[in-house]
Amino acid sequence: MASEAVKVVVRCRPMNQRERELRCQPVVTVDCARGQCCIQNPGAVDEPPKQFTFDGAYHVDHVTEQIYNEIAYPLVEGVTEGYNGTIFAYGQTGSGKSFTMQGLPDPPSQRGIIPRAFEHVFESVQCAENTKFLVRASYLEIYNEDVRDLLGTDTKQKLELKEHPEKGVYVKGLSMHTVHSVAQCEHIMEAGWKNRSVGYTLMNKDSSRSHSIFTISIEMSAVDERGKDHLRAGKLNLVDLAGSERQSKTGATGERLKEATKINLSLSALGNVISALVDGRCKHIPYRDSKLTRLLQDSLGGNTKTLMVACLSPADNNYDETLSTLRYANRAK
Ligand code: ADP
Repeated sequence: MASEAVKVVVRCRPMNQRERELRCQPVVTVDCARGQCCIQNPGAVDEPPKQFTFDGAYHVDHVTEQIYNEIAYPLVEGVTEGYNGTIFAYGQTGSGKSFTMQGLPDPPSQRGIIPRAFEHVFESVQCAENTKFLVRASYLEIYNEDVRDLLGTDTKQKLELKEHPEKGVYVKGLSMHTVHSVAQCEHIMEAGWKNRSVGYTLMNKDSSRSHSIFTISIEMSAVDERGKDHLRAGKLNLVDLAGSERQSKTGATGERLKEATKINLSLSALGNVISALVDGRCKHIPYRDSKLTRLLQDSLGGNTKTLMVACLSPADNNYDETLSTLRYANRAK
């Protein structure tokens, strides 16, 4: 039961120009039919490769359209029926998280999971009969364990997490925006994106050092034959995580190092929560260990679905980070 609720897939991107110029060798192989991914230690070629199995494994020829249809579609469909769901991409900076989540407008097959989810939600809204929908969006950022509203009037203000006996954990003062179309969703996402805290590391100059959560909440009300009102609510969290790389490789010092420690704390808290959920035997799920996991508490575990896409670089010079991503993903499945 529990493991059905959490799906983990890996996606290996092609070599980039820098890796080709450095004459990097590929160390990752993917067997999509078996959902397997192998990694060879370039420093110990006599050793057998390490092998991992997931709910799906995608390589360079696979497009986001396929990943969406196979894995994300059922999750988003569930949200339109009144369940909560969370989708996130995990991996080091430059591994393909944004490519997978935001994607490219062209070719259409590489449009990201986020625009596809927007379309999916509004198609369901338009097709449903005898049901009224209220679709709202919010967008927040967690940076150094501080929560800020990316769509608020004051995007610098730190917001508090509160707990309500029925509503559960919520962010006090977070703005909610009613949306009627895909275009409106895209517009507010773009506006919020520009308000994010962006840091500079050696690996990728515009890599983001914060986590952000774009949430689409759908309230549905349907009247049955006897005139009785049925209310349902579903929530879709689209999470953009900071890069998972360790600070030694990024050359971070001072403020950046402090930041990196907090990023790693949230990512390991998320890993702990997911592996406790997957295990199914744990009575205590450690949601309280970070703001990220507290905020996602009602959308991870229980009656909800979670999808993690672990993004990988194929190159030998990223071996350590890629292995650590595979281990993280492996714990989560
Ligand atoms: P991240 O968000 O993890 O920092 P990006 O998504 O920005 O990484 O990817 C880094 C670069 O690699 C981008 O130029 C992106 O277009 C390219 N890329 C990532 N994944 C793929 C893929 N599956 N196929 C082709 N190009 C990719």
